[in-house]
Amino acid sequence: MLKIENLHAETAGKAILKGITLTINPGEIHAIMGPNGAGKSTLAYTLGGRPGYEVTDGTATFDGQDLLALEPHERAAAGLFLGFQYPVEIPGVSNLQFLRTALNAQRTARGEKELSGGEFIKLARGEADALGLDPDMLKRPVNVGFSGGEKKRNEMVQMGIIAPKLAILDETDSGLDIDALKAVGHGINTIMRKPDKAVLLITHYQRLLDYVKPDYVHVLAAGRIVRSGGPELAIELEREGYAETIGEVAA
Ligand code: ADP
Ligand code: MG
Ligand code: MG
Repeated sequence: MLKIENLHAETAGKAILKGITLTINPGEIHAIMGPNGAGKSTLAYTLGGRPGYEVTDGTATFDGQDLLALEPHERAAAGLFLGFQYPVEIPGVSNLQFLRTALNAQRTARGEKELSGGEFIKLARGEADALGLDPDMLKRPVNVGFSGGEKKRNEMVQMGIIAPKLAILDETDSGLDIDALKAVGHGINTIMRKPDKAVLLITHYQRLLDYVKPDYVHVLAAGRIVRSGGPELAIELEREGYAETIGEVAA
């Protein structure tokens, strides 16, 4: 589904990603862990096509298409979803308006019929229900005045409605209490743990992985994947720390 080869990227003239190679197949959940400043967010931004992040070498294909040649909205329409540590607040635009616009734009780009207001509300209520979000929150402006946990639950509802093929979630667990963490874990498992979907879960800590069992764990340090393994690698990292597990390169 996603094939990254020798990806190099820079931001603000500084080389950050220094040769990332990673293949994610349908049905797989990959976790990327690593110390602060390793380039984890840069990887997510680069794959999402955020302005200011420039690819200087390497390739990334998504379902066989050249991902790096697509505009950010084309990447979304192709089935890529990015979730971030600090979800954006949009005063004056309700969750329902925002999500219906986003979903219908993607459907149109894929040549699918737009959902009517009634169809959309039914879908949105169903997703909110499944994820334990108060459906009244759907009427509120996007993320405005939401607690950290509510923003994350809201992001899971967004993901449920958009129904992406591949979700890249960047430190979606940071700052969450246990209940919100469980809700996020439940959301990822419910929406994305399917044979035709995949997840790239970027996390600094192992604790989210208690709720979402990754198939593969990779350690990113200084812009490179320095180790890969199964779920046991996350537990080793938590126990030993990054410096102990990956040595010098952690610095
Ligand atoms: P991580 O998410 O693993 O903590 P980041 O991808 O956020 O790492 O950052 C990787 C490196 O890139 C860090 O050294 C950081 O200071 C640098 N960096 C990130 N964004 C910028 C930017 N906009 N300008 C300059 N340096 C940046
Ligand atoms: Mg960071
Ligand atoms: Mg980061």
